[in-house]
Amino acid sequence: MLKYHMPLYRPPSEGENLIIQATLGCSFNRCTFCSMYHEKTYTERSIDDVLLDIDQGASEWSNASRVFLADGDALALPTDHLIKILDHLALRLPKLTRVSCYALPANLLKKSLAELTLLQEHKLNLLYYGIESGHAPLLKTIHKGATPWGMEEGLLKAEQAKMKISATVVLGLAGQDGWKEHIDGTVELLKKAPINYLSTLQLFLDDSVRPQFLAGFKSAFKFQDDWAILTEQYRLIENLTTLPKRVIFRSNHASNALALAGNLPKDRQRLLSEIKAAQEGTKSLRPDFLRGL
Ligand code: SF4
Repeated sequence: MLKYHMPLYRPPSEGENLIIQATLGCSFNRCTFCSMYHEKTYTERSIDDVLLDIDQGASEWSNASRVFLADGDALALPTDHLIKILDHLALRLPKLTRVSCYALPANLLKKSLAELTLLQEHKLNLLYYGIESGHAPLLKTIHKGATPWGMEEGLLKAEQAKMKISATVVLGLAGQDGWKEHIDGTVELLKKAPINYLSTLQLFLDDSVRPQFLAGFKSAFKFQDDWAILTEQYRLIENLTTLPKRVIFRSNHASNALALAGNLPKDRQRLLSEIKAAQEGTKSLRPDFLRGL
């Protein structure tokens, strides 16, 4: 049976797909709000071990058509290493149509257009990408290792390489003092950077990272409550009037108080009406006990 190095994380939309661990942990591991890979030392797994896992996965699930390369950012691997993995996946899984992985902004920037195009041609065609915020000072505060202009450049390059991007934004990330700048900077970035899917998450801090997260802010961090998060959500969607391309929007991650789904900008008005209904108490929020990461 295919064995994994735990803990194992994957995007909710990859829950029914084959997962192969190409790396362990996250090559960056410094975002102050994130505890996912604190217990793991970043490791590039040997190509032989990964190919054996692919053989095992294919023997258990020969009809798999979608594969997620874990852990935190398989895009950190050298391109020739990734190509070997992708070629073996294609060899062992005849129905393969899509390979995806998490991609750090810095690692996407490091890959050339030619490398990304080559990877896309070998079916690495979906990247999960944490924007978190488009506000430069906030990105610095949370140690994201990224800037809005760097993210714009990387996302434009991925688009040119015909890769699809599923991006996330974290509501509540700036607290009560900086929320408007957080949302407005994010809107500005999203209006320039082409993405295919957008999800909003709600800030959820594990106890182990709470002190380091709070210490990054110059003044005492004041958390947003659910009503303030709805105001952030409203301002975000209200201002996404034009986008480089149609975006499939979701806020159905378990961290969210309000689940929303639609296409942007087409469904803007309907999504805003749903947020309004929640603000007025006619649409209920997800109870606390059902929230999490
Ligand atoms: S948010 Fe992503 S890039 Fe940042 S530490 Fe966590 S896994 Fe790594």
